[in-house]
Amino acid sequence: SVIDPRTGEIIKGHVTLGSLRVRQDMKIAEGLLTPFIEDRSELKSAVKNMALARIRQLSAHEIGHTLGIAHNFAASASDRASVMDYPHPLVNLTTDGGLSLSNAYTEGLGVWDKQVLAYGYSDFGGMPSSDEQLARILDENKTLNLSFISDRDARPAGGAHPQAHLWDNGSEPVTELERLLSVRQQVLDNFSKDMLNSDQPLSQLQSIFVPIYLLHRYQTEAAVKWLGGVNYHYYMADDSTDDYQPVGAARQQAALKQLLKTIQADTLRVPSHIKQWLVPSAYGESSSRENFSGKTGLIPDTVSMAASAADHSLSLMLNSQRLNRLAQQHADNDRVPSPAGLMTAIFNTVFSDWENAKKAPVQQRLLATAINAEVRAVKNSGLAAETRLVMRAELAEQQQKLAKSDSLLVKQLAKDLDKFLNEGQWPEQYEPEPLPPGSPI
Ligand SMILES: [Zn+2]
Repeated sequence: SVIDPRTGEIIKGHVTLGSLRVRQDMKIAEGLLTPFIEDRSELKSAVKNMALARIRQLSAHEIGHTLGIAHNFAASASDRASVMDYPHPLVNLTTDGGLSLSNAYTEGLGVWDKQVLAYGYSDFGGMPSSDEQLARILDENKTLNLSFISDRDARPAGGAHPQAHLWDNGSEPVTELERLLSVRQQVLDNFSKDMLNSDQPLSQLQSIFVPIYLLHRYQTEAAVKWLGGVNYHYYMADDSTDDYQPVGAARQQAALKQLLKTIQADTLRVPSHIKQWLVPSAYGESSSRENFSGKTGLIPDTVSMAASAADHSLSLMLNSQRLNRLAQQHADNDRVPSPAGLMTAIFNTVFSDWENAKKAPVQQRLLATAINAEVRAVKNSGLAAETRLVMRAELAEQQQKLAKSDSLLVKQLAKDLDKFLNEGQWPEQYEPEPLPPGSPI
């Protein structure tokens, strides 16, 4: 923006929308729709329509900024009330077993946008006074159940607000995560390479597969905010703060249940028909940061993909600020998961997965990845003293369970954990590769 320094007035706004944004949206739409639309030209126009719907809405968003409007990340929880949120395409399964993106993005401005513009730009005339008219708009916002929560509250991984998320959908993030996980499963079961032309290298399929495999990543970030979450808004001095309360225990338990699904082998194992298509780059092609990195050289590493995806959830669940809040909330209400209880739930999930398939590399890696995430959390300097102490005690218990195993691999993991607990040393090889970038921008 070019801003008049005397008044703050925005005189000129300039926005650049790079082609990468549309590319990313088209990859998502291709991966989602290809299994469900046979006709190629119909498929191409459905993909294009979704990308255009997004860029149309994004244009409105940027114009909103030039008018001085801030992000409102709580808007998607109020029936997609603003173009100033970051929207994730809304994917709907249809009754005939298909999939639709026709409602992926809203059209036009949202209710919140109209309220903000009315507040900032109305010329109220004389009567009633503009103060009264402005107060009326704020009252309307309450009646319409509109919340405003912006970047500082919504962006951090340790965020506490249960409704302020980026790239999410729905008023109930946990229900939406559950729904999105089942959409993802259905798409993976039917995943197809038909979007590629016959003169395209098959290795290009990976850039379509990645956003589908990680379809749940942003909704996971939304759902995790119910764990150790706290309801609040930006209070004025004479507002009631009765709603300034932790997220209810039943909701936190429901969130934990869905989050645990995102670290399970059944969710993260790449289906064998897709694995067969994830081939090394063809001559003249090269892997890019859109793809997963792994530990198997040029051969795409589906085990490392599972570890990276699981670690995304684990690092959110085991965020130090979240753990410290859980410890304090659990002290007041023991139905809220405690940090140790959360670790037990994580451990039980990956350990029983491993017990069901002891020789499977995915299960072995997920077990090591979860223990690594717990160790990383315990080492984090942001962890409160009392939280750290209970988590170390829980790690010691997990160490004993691992040590009793008849598997040499798990016995060695127990030895490494013992070394961490006694000497503070931990192998860095357990750290998974970071996820490729992938915001549906
Ligand atoms: Zn923006």
